[in-house]
Amino acid sequence: MEVEAPMWVLIQTSFLFLFFFFTISFSFFSLLLYFLRMKLWCNCDICHSYLTSSWVGKFDNLCDWYTHLLRQSPTKTIHIHILGNTITANPENVEHMIKTRFDNYPKGKTFSTILGDLLGRGIFNVDGDLWRFQRKMASLELGSVSVRSHAFQIVSAEIEHRLLHLLDSAAGKPNEILDLQDVFRRFAFDNICKIHSGWILVA
Ligand SMILES: [Zn+2]
Repeated sequence: MEVEAPMWVLIQTSFLFLFFFFTISFSFFSLLLYFLRMKLWCNCDICHSYLTSSWVGKFDNLCDWYTHLLRQSPTKTIHIHILGNTITANPENVEHMIKTRFDNYPKGKTFSTILGDLLGRGIFNVDGDLWRFQRKMASLELGSVSVRSHAFQIVSAEIEHRLLHLLDSAAGKPNEILDLQDVFRRFAFDNICKIHSGWILVA
């Protein structure tokens, strides 16, 4: 003699079945959407050039090629779909990311872990409240009149006693090429060292 299951057991079983069905379906479509958005098989001009390294024929390094693409882009922004990367030189985008909606662009756990040994839990390697607290501290510290005055004196002295002498010297040698990018990079590095420690590193 067969015993029919009570109604509440049937309802419970149906509910569990529907719950697992929707959970599995939702997870599956989420994963599908994630991979579709990654465009791992994208064959646009930029991705194709990246995959085949055809850019090597015209440019010495990746940065030069990216700079060329950014110059050509009307929005000053390019996408490397297969890497999931977006590169921008548009000031409005940069302001949006680092000021207006900064919270939308966390560095993330991967970035923090990779640079953890070098940057620790400092302002350049944290997100959220920890970042906000350190930013306020840095702003108070670096915005003071005494620090700005100190930096102004050091930068002025560096310009007067070193940078202008170097440029004068280069101007007297018309046949020699002066790498201004290298000069300004060294100038910035020297100033940062002197403002922080009072010393300039000499290699
Ligand atoms: Zn692409």
